[in-house]
Amino acid sequence: MPMRPPKMCNKCRRTYDAPRCPHCRKPWAGSRRSGKSTRAYRRYRDNYLDEHPMCSWPSCKAVGQVADHVVPIAEGGDMFGPLRTLCHAHHHEVTQAQARRGRGLREPDEP
Ligand SMILES: [Zn+2]
Ligand SMILES: [Zn+2]
Repeated sequence: MPMRPPKMCNKCRRTYDAPRCPHCRKPWAGSRRSGKSTRAYRRYRDNYLDEHPMCSWPSCKAVGQVADHVVPIAEGGDMFGPLRTLCHAHHHEVTQAQARRGRGLREPDEP
């Protein structure tokens, strides 16, 4: 009965007897963290909109359509961080303000 030779990893050149090289297991493999909109995030956002259907803008009485990150992802916010509901008009206003901040111009004050 021939002995099964151990496989050699063509990455780290170490031998192993397992389906995959145990030395080259990426520590981040299996992590779901990404900057993209995931199914989990959509569920998180939809739940938020269910619970907070109105635009959170002061004095705005419109029904909100957009769950906006309180701290924008582009400014270091977490994908699953706090949200606020905004109507389209105010979401537009907020994204315009973020774009101006992104270009290095200061907003005088946000309500
Ligand atoms: Zn390896
Ligand atoms: Zn609004």
